[in-house]
Amino acid sequence: MTHTFINLLEDFCWVDSVQAYEIFSQRKKRTQDNQNEAVLVRKFPLDFNADENTDDCPLLSTRPLPKHIEVESSDAQSNLAILPVHTELGPARALLLQGRFDQDALELLGHLLALYRNQLLLHDRKERDQLTRLPNRQSFEARLTEVCEFYQTLTIGNQTDDKISWIAILDIDHFKNVNDTFGHLYGDEVLLHFSQLLEYKFRHIDFTFRFGGEEFVVIVNRVIRNDAEHILNRFRQEVENYAFPLVGKITVSIGATSITSGMLPSTLLDSADKALYFAKEHGRNQVVLFENIPPPQSNSDANDVELF
Ligand code: GH3
Ligand code: MG
Ligand code: MG
Repeated sequence: MTHTFINLLEDFCWVDSVQAYEIFSQRKKRTQDNQNEAVLVRKFPLDFNADENTDDCPLLSTRPLPKHIEVESSDAQSNLAILPVHTELGPARALLLQGRFDQDALELLGHLLALYRNQLLLHDRKERDQLTRLPNRQSFEARLTEVCEFYQTLTIGNQTDDKISWIAILDIDHFKNVNDTFGHLYGDEVLLHFSQLLEYKFRHIDFTFRFGGEEFVVIVNRVIRNDAEHILNRFRQEVENYAFPLVGKITVSIGATSITSGMLPSTLLDSADKALYFAKEHGRNQVVLFENIPPPQSNSDANDVELF
């Protein structure tokens, strides 16, 4: 939808360029001097090849997003217009247009922006979970397909130092006990705190989703093989150390697998799920990479166990 809107705007002869951003006002990003914190801004659509800091946009990250269209004059040749979109469920969005804007152009932009905003509101309601506000499973499936397509075209991911993406399924341990002991409302509260931890602790270039119930998914982007397990383990530890209101301690099991070229979304999900199952079977509160699951024992071994 945003692609279509950008294409439409770029077709006007008075528009030179268009950039779209998502703005997470509740999430802060440390600036270089570590003194001030800037609002987190993510360029859209995400370029999987870009580094974490290339989507910085000081114009948007250092001051509140305006309520209405604002034009900054740059030089006599061209101006910069900020088109803000405030939404209830998802992050705010902003489009930055470089071009020449007379009164008629601004009026037209205002009408188009209202249409785009309505589409975004409908989109967020369909693609976001009402309780946690995280993107939902439907949104995850679309995003995973996009990520897989990206790796298909680049054929990277086979070297140990390639920065690739990972898919991780996170399932809260013994969550049924939380509901049974404290009630459903406190269960919901845990889900809320858990989703906030996910949003705060993963980088803004990663994608977090509520998969359903007490299961969440993270697509961790641009991480070399050796770091993926470490990043997920660090999050598992954060959850273990976190004091959930009334409920106290909870733990999470995580199953993950790498996304390399030529892999189908369904295969990836199946592999991450197998890794999660392995984690649950082997004591919970741990991270298992599908790539590290030991091969199944031979039939004769299995028979021995059955006989015993
Ligand atoms: P395991 O360690 O094997 O994952 O055990 P578990 O108890 O977490 O797993 P199980 O699948 O047995 O139970 C999941 C529970 O999650 C059951 C269901 O009632 C609860 N649940 C699912 N969605 C929600 C929700 O939106 N809110 C609340 N409060 N509970 C939910
Ligand atoms: Mg579950
Ligand atoms: Mg569970």
